[in-house]
Amino acid sequence: MHYKNTLEFAREMDGSDPLKDFRDKFYIPIINGKQCIYFVGNSLGLQPKTTQDYIYNELENWANYGVEAHFHAKIPWVDYHDIFVEPLSKIVGCLLREVVVMNHLTVNLHLLLTTFYRPTKERYKIICEAKAFPSDQYALESQVKLHACLPDRQGLDPDNAIIEVAPREGEYNIRTEDIVQTINKYANEVAVVLFGGINYYSGKVFDMKAITEAAHKVGAYCGFDLAHAAGNIELHLHDWDVDFACWCSYKYLNSGPGNIAGAYIHQRFITDVSLPRLAGWWGYDKENRFKMEKNFKPIPTAEGWQLSNSPIISMAAHKAALDIFEEAGMENLLKKSKLLTGYLLFILDEINANSNKKVGEIITPKNEEERGCQVSILMLQKGKEVFNALKKHGVLSDWREPDVIRVAPVPLYNTFEDVYQFGQILKYLIENVQA
Ligand SMILES: *Cc1c(COP(=O)(O)O)cnc(C)c1O
Repeated sequence: MHYKNTLEFAREMDGSDPLKDFRDKFYIPIINGKQCIYFVGNSLGLQPKTTQDYIYNELENWANYGVEAHFHAKIPWVDYHDIFVEPLSKIVGCLLREVVVMNHLTVNLHLLLTTFYRPTKERYKIICEAKAFPSDQYALESQVKLHACLPDRQGLDPDNAIIEVAPREGEYNIRTEDIVQTINKYANEVAVVLFGGINYYSGKVFDMKAITEAAHKVGAYCGFDLAHAAGNIELHLHDWDVDFACWCSYKYLNSGPGNIAGAYIHQRFITDVSLPRLAGWWGYDKENRFKMEKNFKPIPTAEGWQLSNSPIISMAAHKAALDIFEEAGMENLLKKSKLLTGYLLFILDEINANSNKKVGEIITPKNEEERGCQVSILMLQKGKEVFNALKKHGVLSDWREPDVIRVAPVPLYNTFEDVYQFGQILKYLIENVQA
């Protein structure tokens, strides 16, 4: 693509964008009396205009049918979660029976680690990324401590069990070869390898296939936290042979703050009743669930990990959002995303090239295969001042200490004009904001 840093070019791109009508399906927050440039869909996706109706319909079902809505609502509540299986299997790339919508991201991470992290005297290490999202760090740390409570596990503690892989000195991204090398170094001691699908700070996509392969080679399980990947990049969890994964629905999946999350478990485990799991009645064999008998018999799909009956009102918001993904098509979204973020990178390069002092270091890999839509800019001058001023000028972005501005143009509702205007504002602020 031959990009140009002009308003005319940006408008031309928007005009010929096959997904251009999708922006109007979302509420865009207003700043200074006009639609803002919303570049924080990686943090909280925007609200579809249909969400309120979907939620309202379920409130109506509750009002009209009461408990009977479990069986008589248009989408019977008892199986409501089933409607997500197909759209999600396309978003994360898996078989229908490998995916389930339940709980929250960190809860699901714990449930999956309960199944897959079973440390022994010899094999007890977890390999993960340095500076992982804090919730993941705490989940891993507390899982290790949980096992350390057992009388025969004295000596197991997070300091010796958790091995972090960091970027090399002077680099911002963790190299795949360093991950593989660390896995090989600890080989027989590794129980689980757990990474983000995308590093939330730099926006780098991890090579999930290569990491999974390396983990399996040494006999370890491999899982991914897809918070920043689901709905943002191409995923093939099943084909990559990933053992387990989980994600949230409120970032790129636009399903509302703190809403219901998802989980994936490779089919080779779903009928294995010897694996430990924390069980609940909603994971119990559907035919016989209401017999309410003793002895847990799991549903032979990822649903077997469900605990509780579904929060229908939250799920209605998830459905509103996923219906839009179905309509847009993941493939089309990925195509636009590459162009849109490519345009952002082009404009940032121009700003750097035309300033007498470099404005920011792009720490997100430029290669399309190694990034999603997010770009992280390590600010080299007036970082915090520029960030604060962006909001006043109608741009919502986010700040990560010590000096990174993250911007994520989302293909569903952001435009090439958003990207162009952002470039103009950034350039203006660099020249005019006081340090
Ligand atoms: C957003 C995010 C979370 C948030 O966890 P919740 O349980 O949804 O609050 C966890 N991990 C990663 C990597 C994230 O990006």
